[in-house]
Amino acid sequence: VTIYLDHAATSPMLAEVVEAVQPWLGRPANPASVHAPGRAAAAAVEQARAEVAALLGRPPAGVVFCSGATEANHTAIRGLWATGTRRFAASPIEHPSVRGALEAVQASGAEILSLPVGRDGVVRLDLPSEVDALVLMAANHETGVRQPVGDAAALAARIGARLHVDATQALGSGPVDALALAETVALSAHKLGGPVGVGALSLRSGAPFPALLTGGSQERGRRAGTVDVAGVVGFGVACRLAREHGPARAERWGRLAASLRAGLDALGARPVGDRARAVPSTTTVVFEGVRGDALVQALDLAGIAVSSGAACASGAVGPSPVLAAMGEAEPAGGLRISFGPGTRADEVEALLAALEAALPLIREASSWE
Ligand code: PMP
Repeated sequence: VTIYLDHAATSPMLAEVVEAVQPWLGRPANPASVHAPGRAAAAAVEQARAEVAALLGRPPAGVVFCSGATEANHTAIRGLWATGTRRFAASPIEHPSVRGALEAVQASGAEILSLPVGRDGVVRLDLPSEVDALVLMAANHETGVRQPVGDAAALAARIGARLHVDATQALGSGPVDALALAETVALSAHKLGGPVGVGALSLRSGAPFPALLTGGSQERGRRAGTVDVAGVVGFGVACRLAREHGPARAERWGRLAASLRAGLDALGARPVGDRARAVPSTTTVVFEGVRGDALVQALDLAGIAVSSGAACASGAVGPSPVLAAMGEAEPAGGLRISFGPGTRADEVEALLAALEAALPLIREASSWE
């Protein structure tokens, strides 16, 4: 059996989520239908909407279900553009889906100003000139480092700018500061032990917002397409569990991360970014002179699943834009270990033992190259 320590890529559905989803799989469930099965589906969707809103601390009427954070980021950023935003500020460490949406609005004429990033992995809110919107993730997908959402909200209020927050990597271990102040927030179910392929865009109010997918009146005209009731129900349960167990998870992950860090330090690892500012579930380090993808492969052979960065990026071998933006000399060198609700101390021990065995072999092999 694989020891799975790659929950930042995707975290398997929690048992309670599987149980809640199951009855909806073999049932007619179109919440737009007026008959009894349709009404039952609509009620289940509204219950899930309330759970998503409660986790975010934002109004349920503003929650728009969609296929995940990629779609939510695109809807938000293209929607900001469509409603008058012309100058966006964002950093190079944003998720590729945010970068992609920014490139799309840039092609239409938007200006994108680049925010600098420190060695600590934290975005600096130094605006080179006036902007209409700030785009900032709550926690980075490769380093886990939390970003200054509260400061961004204060800055946005001061200069009259709008704020989009990608909260996808930040919600499993307790509330995120100042999330209520953002105009739009993106999140995804599968990082929380919910199903893959479902997520939400949270708007500050129930007001209309330009839809990416148009033509149907679902989600109050803000996202056309039949709602995935099974997925949304699972998402709601995952959000409830995150809200109820987030603080306890954070405490447990904090203890596991401390012993992981001690073991990694003993093996000569160097932390990437300010680990004290990271979410407790994610640990990212560099072993000097050792490629992250070589470590991932060696650990895979030992039956341990980790990542050298974002899963979206690690299929393609190349330097990580996140580590490069942080000024890392070896942007291909990251090793990301990320915990889930079921991660145990003996799994962390097994990872450290496998790394201790693999490191000298990889170092020896690369000295022949
Ligand atoms: N934003 C961040 C920060 C992420 O980590 C991810 C998932 N890798 C996404 C957006 C995209 O989420 P989804 O898989 O739901 O499209």
